[in-house]
Amino acid sequence: MTILVTGGAGYIGSHTCVELLNAGYEVVVVDNYYNSVPAVLDRVEQITGKKLKSYDCDIRDREGLDKIFAENKPDAVIHFAGLKAVGESAKLPLLYYENNISGSVTLFEAMEAANCKKIVFSSSATVYGNNPIPYKEDMITGDVSSPYGRTKHFIEKILGDVYAADNSWSVSLLRYFNPIGAHESGLIGEDPNGIPNNLMPYISRVAIGKLEKLTVFGGDYETKDGTCIRDYIHVVDLAKAHLCAVKKILDTTGLEAYNIGNGKGYSVLDIVHAFEKVTGKPLNYVIGARREGDLPAFYADATKANKELGWTAKYDIDKMCEDTWNFQTKNPDGIK
Ligand code: NAD
Ligand code: UDP
Repeated sequence: MTILVTGGAGYIGSHTCVELLNAGYEVVVVDNYYNSVPAVLDRVEQITGKKLKSYDCDIRDREGLDKIFAENKPDAVIHFAGLKAVGESAKLPLLYYENNISGSVTLFEAMEAANCKKIVFSSSATVYGNNPIPYKEDMITGDVSSPYGRTKHFIEKILGDVYAADNSWSVSLLRYFNPIGAHESGLIGEDPNGIPNNLMPYISRVAIGKLEKLTVFGGDYETKDGTCIRDYIHVVDLAKAHLCAVKKILDTTGLEAYNIGNGKGYSVLDIVHAFEKVTGKPLNYVIGARREGDLPAFYADATKANKELGWTAKYDIDKMCEDTWNFQTKNPDGIK
């Protein structure tokens, strides 16, 4: 079985390629390396001892995609490629709509033309907006606060329409919560360009001395310690969820959404203290103002993925911090 992975050189994509190769799938990566480097794929091969195929191609390039589909005849697609910075999306909404939505539509057209109608899509818990917690898949989605979040919501709806028009498609919408951590080899992990927007890469750069201090965004929320609560999930657990979803779509048709989270909420300070335990030293942080658009707390009800995909998250926040720190110390300047 051959799986085409868009955005396979990125953070979640690379960890998923490891799991796919280990499970015996042939892997074809399509990435334009906008937010990654080809060397990541060498590391995926190093970890697994297996080869994958890769193409430097933009998902908006229909001709390029057609050639790749014709050459490789993939059985299914896992679609990670997209831009993901929430703040940037508010400043550059058209860039986000063009890349994420136009890119996805072009990809789905190429899939249809190649008669490859099985897809796992990287969605996000952000589609739940202001719903009560824990989030469940049957809640009404779409009340989102950023153009980035809206791209996820719209792409889910586009796939819904595609499936409604043609029931031979098989679609799995995976709504990720907060992926952190790295592969335990320390060879691949989250390696953002510039100053990180997300909590974990920010913390690890403070710990290694590349950034001076963490600002905790808000200490006056109505939570146990005043800081925001999120559902952090180890990226390897998340990657394994893709394996379960791929197995399911290869065997069935239909469209389902699944929450991929631990089902537990941790505060920003829980993560800071778990990280301090791993490094053995205090982390320099200050409590600052709230970040606009942040919700006080959300976490998953992940029972649907547990039951229907046979998937459960295994790793706790100590392991997430340990593996992040291992990756950071082995790659102080990132992956070149
Ligand atoms: P990432 O930026 O590390 O990976 C995305 C990859 O897609 C990169 O390698 C990038 O070069 C590639 N890409 C972007 N636009 C492309 C295009 N037009 N053509 C070809 N390749 C393109 O991000 P990630 O954290 O691995 O996220 C993967 C997916 O999961 C994204 O769709 C993201 O929105 C979604 N997601 C991520 C998170 C998170 O916290 N990391 C949470 C929820 C959902
Ligand atoms: N956060 C923080 N300081 C930072 C980055 C993030 O306090 O420098 C907080 C943020 O307010 C949120 C949590 O950490 O409560 C996770 O933020 P992240 O951006 O990683 O993910 P989000 O849940 O916003 O998608």
